[in-house]
Formats: sequence, structure tokens, C-alpha cells
Amino acid sequence: MAYATPLETRIAKKVTRAIAEYGLIEEGDRVMVGLSGGKDSWALINILDVLRRRAPIRFSLVAVTVDSGYDGYRHDLISQTCEQRGWEYRIEHTGIGEAIEDILDATATPCSLCARLRRGVLYRLATEVGATKIALGHHLDDFIETLLLNLFFAGSLKAMPARLVSDNAQHVVIRPLVYVTESEARLYAREQALPIVGCCCPACGDLSLQRQRAKRLVAELEVEHPEIKNSMIRAIGNVATRHLLDKRLNPLPELREALADGVAPLRLLRT
Ligand code: SF4
Repeated sequence: MAYATPLETRIAKKVTRAIAEYGLIEEGDRVMVGLSGGKDSWALINILDVLRRRAPIRFSLVAVTVDSGYDGYRHDLISQTCEQRGWEYRIEHTGIGEAIEDILDATATPCSLCARLRRGVLYRLATEVGATKIALGHHLDDFIETLLLNLFFAGSLKAMPARLVSDNAQHVVIRPLVYVTESEARLYAREQALPIVGCCCPACGDLSLQRQRAKRLVAELEVEHPEIKNSMIRAIGNVATRHLLDKRLNPLPELREALADGVAPLRLLRT
């Protein structure tokens, strides 16, 4: 069975590669897709549904929207589209937007608190719908921008994982679009006539200025070096730990030996 378009073929290959490399979806999985109605989440559920129909393994999908409660959020378009396409769907209406306003002062950046609150709701819903995996629509650009943000502003060398087991080991979060670029996700959502819905959050667009800066930087460099994004995503999967300065990765030989002998690090410092 051929894919619908060349773009769908390209995206399907990239998502299949991610699924195989990171063991993202397995036989019998029930995958809950976080569906905000943005281009990325639409691209994600559409391609997973395409792959589901062709896959040699059996897995099911359920789309879930967490409504933060902002006025004007067109969740009706999301539920209608899911119904038309035969996708199992659930929406959870919350007061996350109001809660953020109450907790944070007007100058604080709400996105990390928002993400934590939404993640909590997603975990609860995953249990309620019996999901074995939670799929999120982060794409290649999100991975490399997060790497740069942590590098430039947080003093930490980290991006995000394609597969993450939650702290309480009860949930597995997967990011099948890790090799799909933002522009591919945008084009695919449009090509598939999926209604792109804004989150209606007042912070959307003008907050997270550092992320916008990182995005611009990559775009500028890409003009001179078209392969730069591919190089960066490869780098995240090709870490030379001995060429870093983290002493936890490269302990001194004496410390390494002592640790292997079961001596507590503090005792070594005292001797
Ligand atoms: S822009 Fe708004 S909805 Fe998006 S993460 Fe930030 S606070 Fe949450």
C-alpha cells in the first residue's frame, strides 16, 4: 500500500526509524496522543494512524486534549475532526490557565509551570484510558532548540529523550517526531487538511523569547550550512563522554577504582 504523498512517505520513514531505534511502540500498545490541535500534534496522530494501518504489529490510538480553559479555544474543531476520521477521542477541561494566573506574578514565565500541570493531567488521563504509552508531538527543531537553550542559558548539556519513563515508573512518554522537522510537520498538517487550532494562551508567541532566539540562530546558520539541523540531531545521539568535563562521567582513576571497590566517595576525600 503506497503512502498518500511524497511528504507522507518521508515522514513515515522518519517516524518508523524513530520507533525502531528507540523501541517507541510495541505489540499491543495503547498509545495516547496528546492532541492540542497545533500542527505538531495533528501531524503526529495522522502519521501514527497511517502507520498503525500498515504496521506488522498491533497497537491502538486514543487522542486526548487537555483544555487549559482559555476563552476562544476551538476544541470543538478538534473533537469534530477526530470523529470524522474515526479517531477515539477524549477531552479534559481544566482550570490550568486560571491556576497559573493565581500562582505566578505578571512578569514570570508561565510555560514551565503550565507544562508541569499539563503533564500531571496527561499522566492521570493515561491511567484512566489504559494507555501504555503517551505520545507527544515534539519534533526535531524542539530537540535541537532545547539543547541550545540548556547550553546557553541553563549551564547544562541536555536535550530531551525520544523515550522517557516517568519518575514513578508508571508511564512511558514517547516522541516519535524526533527526526521530523517543524516545517515538515506544518506542511503535513496542512496537506492532510487538519484544522490547526491555537491554544489561546495570552503568553503564546511572545514568551519564551530565548527559544525564539535559539530558533532564529539555527535558521541563520542553516542558510550557510543546510545540513546543520541534521548534524545537531546526530550529535545528541553521538555523545563522546570522555570529551566532556562532567566528573560524574569521567572520575579520576583513583576514584574510579575506589568506587568499584565499594568505598564511599566521602571517605576518599578524608584520607
Ligand atoms: S505558551 Fe501558554 S499554553 Fe503554551 S506552554 Fe506557555 S503557558 Fe502553556
